[in-house]
Amino acid sequence: MTNKEFDYLIVGAGLFGCVWAHEATKRGKKCLVIDRREHIGGNTYCENVEGINVHKYGAHIFHTNDKEIWDYVNSFVEFNRYTNSPVANYYGEFYNLPFNMNTFYQMWKVRTPEEAQAKIQSQIAEANITDPQNLEEQAISLVGTDIYEKLIKGYTEKQWGRKCVDLPAFIIKRLPVRFTFDNNYFNDRYQGIPIGGYNKLNEGLLEGIEVRLGVDYFKDREALDALAEQIVYTGKIDEYFDFQFGYLEYRSLRFDHELLDNQNYQGNAVVNYTDAETPFTRIIEHKHFEFGTQEKTLITREYPQEWTHGQEPYYPVNDDKNDRVFREYRKLAENVPNVIFGGRLAEYRYYDMHQVIGSALVKVRKHFGE
Ligand code: FAD
Ligand code: UDP
Repeated sequence: MTNKEFDYLIVGAGLFGCVWAHEATKRGKKCLVIDRREHIGGNTYCENVEGINVHKYGAHIFHTNDKEIWDYVNSFVEFNRYTNSPVANYYGEFYNLPFNMNTFYQMWKVRTPEEAQAKIQSQIAEANITDPQNLEEQAISLVGTDIYEKLIKGYTEKQWGRKCVDLPAFIIKRLPVRFTFDNNYFNDRYQGIPIGGYNKLNEGLLEGIEVRLGVDYFKDREALDALAEQIVYTGKIDEYFDFQFGYLEYRSLRFDHELLDNQNYQGNAVVNYTDAETPFTRIIEHKHFEFGTQEKTLITREYPQEWTHGQEPYYPVNDDKNDRVFREYRKLAENVPNVIFGGRLAEYRYYDMHQVIGSALVKVRKHFGE
């Protein structure tokens, strides 16, 4: 028996919070979801401008290998057949991404996988890397120095505000390298964009659940805690513990949106600017995610920003120093009764959407003893 109004207070209406709220409600529990922003969906939120779904917090492409997760999201909204195939612009030279036979042909005029492999092997041998220790060494040992110099170094150092030699190798391992003429950015079996945008997915998950927007947990913590038996916290873990071990660092972004009287600005949803001088990393043309035919187009330039306390935390910086601090917070979190920590900010992980959904589903099942 419970005396409180809600079984769960869910702090954060991002994907983790939405999935948890949906699953707990399905199991007969009463949930209240709050978010300090004025909308649900966290970073997947879309705003409709001139009929175009604008990904307000950066381009979001859904992809997964997990049929259960694919079926799960498709039960709330249908997905289109969008396949991400970004193009890299290096001082006006165009290269296909991810690194594949098209890229190798454009870079070296090699025509066969054998020629491409030989070229890469000779560059790896010259660089003399046997056991890659950082992003630079990892990148060179995957694709050689030419591709590293033109397509990786400038982009990565802008994106992260750190030298490639000071960044963890795993960041670059996200990208496929393949010896086929295949520009699909992901290897996953399932991929697409929700037809009608991500809001449909989040609205579907939260259907029938009470949501209060513009509510910051920390501004009214005691009163909010008093409302529910248990808390699902998806905000920043260091903020939960009043930053007692110091700030966890993030990389932030500034999105510069521009509506143009032009039907088709760049002919692709994503164009990366991989040189070091252009101050933005990429231009997103949102209509192409949904094969839009509107009269106008909306583009977004993405400017990486140094993160300081108070700015939007976009990318966790999972280097050794921050991971050490995170482990201290995690130890505290493990001992807080009746609070479940989850999602990108509470777990301080560079999670994709399917991983956040997967993690929420696993935690829900564990929590309910299933
Ligand atoms: P969030 O979406 O961050 O939600 C957390 C919510 O909690 C926020 O709405 C926040 O306002 C709220 N909150 C925090 N603190 C408080 C508080 N104190 N009180 C009230 N509310 C609070 N994934 C992909 O799969 N494909 C992609 O192409 C892709 N592109 C991305 C591009 C960018 C630029 C970024 C930053 C991420 C991208 N991702 C992508 C990752 C994806 O955004 C995340 O995996 C997912 O949105 C994380 O969901 P979440 O619920 O953990 O966090
Ligand atoms: N990257 C790069 N050149 C590119 C695109 C990506 O060097 O043209 C590197 C960069 O370090 C980036 C990482 O690969 O942080 C992962 O890229 P992804 O597109 O997955 O990044 P996200 O969409 O998460 O920003």
